[in-house]
Amino acid sequence: MPAISIKNINKTYIDQDGNEVQALHDINLDVAEGEFVCIVGPSGCGKSTLLEIVAGLLDATGGEVMLDGQPVRGTSRDIGVVFQDASLFPWRTVRKNVAFGLEIAGVPKEGREERLKRYISMVSLNGFENKYPAQLSGGMRQRAGIARTLAMNPKVILMDEPFSAVDHLTKCTLQEELINIRQAENKTVLFVTHDINEAVFLADRVVLLSPRPSTIQKIYEIPLEQK
Ligand code: ADP
Ligand code: ADP
Repeated sequence: MPAISIKNINKTYIDQDGNEVQALHDINLDVAEGEFVCIVGPSGCGKSTLLEIVAGLLDATGGEVMLDGQPVRGTSRDIGVVFQDASLFPWRTVRKNVAFGLEIAGVPKEGREERLKRYISMVSLNGFENKYPAQLSGGMRQRAGIARTLAMNPKVILMDEPFSAVDHLTKCTLQEELINIRQAENKTVLFVTHDINEAVFLADRVVLLSPRPSTIQKIYEIPLEQK
């Protein structure tokens, strides 16, 4: 059974002028447990829309998303999300932000300190535990966001262009780190990016969501050489 099963998903938005905008047309995609799949495609092809639907943050117009065979209805603790801007709580330190994730995951108080240390060091934020998000660089904020999401111990992690707002060198470091984290945690990951190089570097499998045409929208598998 796939960890994530996207079945015939359709999404139509109504724009400001009242016109229908079909963002997704009959999209099907399965992600196996432990698999790291990247969805690439040009701006506007519907990647964020698809991820938001999988996250339960947006309702599809048609179709269904299954998580371990169960339909996703609204947001779920089993799904962790990392967006472009980390969305940390600005009034909480790094430590408190990550601790929030542990709390959500129901980790008892005694076990939290050890897990906190583990996730903070996993994202190389040792020494920054007591800083507030505004005191960190963009790359550090993304790291803190990833640590918070990992701390929630979700079954699957959804990432929407998580590194696109950081400088190039930081991006390369974060990509390397994500590969290491991924190996250590063995999570199922669905990652959205417009950057094909990033996708090929990170993923087990890359799929292309074609630009939104009037009728046919398709998911194409991009063959990767054996990594
Ligand atoms: P991507 O993430 O690939 O850039 P999006 O999912 O953001 O694509 O958008 C897909 C399409 O849906 C685009 O044509 C976009 O303009 C349209 N769209 C997205 N959000 C809305 C909205 N709230 N209202 C109307 N149209 C929208
Ligand atoms: P509150 O009830 O305090 O408003 P929410 O449940 O709305 O808390 O979540 C607050 C923030 O926590 C969200 O803006 C989001 O950034 C983050 N969050 C919540 N659930 C998740 C999740 N499953 N994965 C990643 N971040 C999450």
